[in-house]
This record gives sequence, structure tokens and C-alpha cells, in this order.
Amino acid sequence: MVNSAREVSGIPRQPCRCLTADLPDAAALSRLLTEWLGQIPEEERTESEETAWRLDRCRRCDFLRDGTCALCGCYVELRAAKRRMRCPDLPDRWSSEEELRSSIPNC
Ligand code: SF4
Repeated sequence: MVNSAREVSGIPRQPCRCLTADLPDAAALSRLLTEWLGQIPEEERTESEETAWRLDRCRRCDFLRDGTCALCGCYVELRAAKRRMRCPDLPDRWSSEEELRSSIPNC
């Protein structure tokens, strides 16, 4: 038997099998996102100012589609709320020029 559940940060996760179109309304999706945000362990959460900075960049990005990133498929509010996550674009739109320069060896 194949166990389709996997654990992410100690939280058992089942693969999502629904489309947003299957959800009754936007409020239902918003409640789900809030619930998922609440499951991110404190030590893995992005500081609120940093989350706001990231989401501001997403709002001005052409890859934002109905709350998801067209490059990675993530809900940007969830991706931005996880400290270790990066913007999937190249260059990373969430990093300042200074951060990008320091991440490149010998730059
Ligand atoms: S995560 Fe990056 S590429 Fe995706 S929508 Fe946000 S800024 Fe744009």
C-alpha cells in the first residue's frame, strides 16, 4: 500500500486533490489559507515586516495569478510566510540588490 501522506515540518500533509474552482467561494479559500498559515511553526515563520515586503513585491509582479505565483504554483501568502522560501524568479524579486550581491561568491 502506498502511503500518500508526507510530513512537512512535523505536520502530516495529504496531497491536495481539489481545484480552487471546487471550493464554494473565495471566503472558503481565504479560511483555508489562514488555517494553513496558522500551522507554520513559529520558528519557521517570516517576520511580519518581511512578509509584507515580499507580498508587496508579489502584488507588483506580472507572475501573480489569483493569489498564486505562475512560476512555482504556490499561494504567495503561504510562500512569503515561510522564512526559508525564496521568490522563484531569477533574480529573486524578494531580495534587495545588496542581498543578491552577497549571495554570489566572489562578487
Ligand atoms: S513569488 Fe516572485 S515571481 Fe512569484 S509572484 Fe511573487 S514576486 Fe512574482
